[in-house]
Amino acid sequence: MKAAVYHKPADIAVEERDVYDILDDEMLLRTRAASICGTDLRIFKAGHFKIPGGSSRVLGHEVSGEIARVGSLVRGFREGMRVSFTPNIGCGRCEMCRQGYNNMCPDYEAFGISVDGGFQEYMVVPNIAIRGGNVFEVAENLSFEEAAVVEPLSCCYNAFSGLKVTPEDTVLVIGPGPIGACFVQLAKASGARKIIVAGRRDERLREMERFGADITVNSRDKDLKAEIDRITAGRGVDVVITAASSPELQPLAVELLATHGRVNFFGGLPKGSLAEIDTNRVHYRGLTLTGTTGSSNEDYYRSMQLVANGQINVRDIVSHRFPIDDIGAAFALAQTGTVMKSMIVHH
Ligand SMILES: [Zn+2]
Ligand SMILES: [Zn+2]
Repeated sequence: MKAAVYHKPADIAVEERDVYDILDDEMLLRTRAASICGTDLRIFKAGHFKIPGGSSRVLGHEVSGEIARVGSLVRGFREGMRVSFTPNIGCGRCEMCRQGYNNMCPDYEAFGISVDGGFQEYMVVPNIAIRGGNVFEVAENLSFEEAAVVEPLSCCYNAFSGLKVTPEDTVLVIGPGPIGACFVQLAKASGARKIIVAGRRDERLREMERFGADITVNSRDKDLKAEIDRITAGRGVDVVITAASSPELQPLAVELLATHGRVNFFGGLPKGSLAEIDTNRVHYRGLTLTGTTGSSNEDYYRSMQLVANGQINVRDIVSHRFPIDDIGAAFALAQTGTVMKSMIVHH
């Protein structure tokens, strides 16, 4: 079998490996689809503290496939079953895990970070993932590609559910990428009155209209604050999501909010970045500042239901498909930031 192995920043090599043996409490997955995420690109560029120098890892945490072998002690799964995962595996015992937040466990393991992920033809599903409830049977009407993209959707769902969007809200999404496409659709499904997307690339902004954006603003050509003032007659927007990793967006987002507005700082910033926020605005306008990371098993389950019921389209988020041998080209394309989602597909 082939595995794309990350050794150090800028070094991923496709290597031949034996298909894995599994323990009695594990499963073997035949990987079918694994999409490339911003996290994969960040690791490829700058490494990860859970992958120390000298060690290697198969990246890829947005994964689906079919079960090839089930250990004798595993219950509830069978060969041929189509499954996908929540990547963050909690310890199961800490305060966060006990409250259902496996994505917030300080002692987490994760596919594609501390456990080998989906950029390989077969992967081991360790017992902690099975026990942790991280393995989901893929809904019948979903393709393997769609099932892989449920993962980024679930991270958006986690952010979005805290923003309490109603049909009265005007929602602004900053960052017209795959994540932006998920947020636009969640806003649409929630009945938001108006959905605005801001970004710096016209071709991506046009894509957002297909997913349900009412208005797009190219913030390279136009001053976003002035445009939002114009669109909302000076009122501001009720909800902003910053789906881009740029420190200056966070204070700007706060400035764009109407009274009782809510923001989610979705895109993380480079370590050590600080943003200067006008907290008087937060105080006098009753604003709510939120942030989220990853998704819990519950977020994931609910997200898969939204896709299975046809309320969210993740199929059209996938724009490019590559065989594993071309993973270098796939990463290079994804890094340009000009395309939607690139996917490694195994046949
Ligand atoms: Zn991801
Ligand atoms: Zn825990």
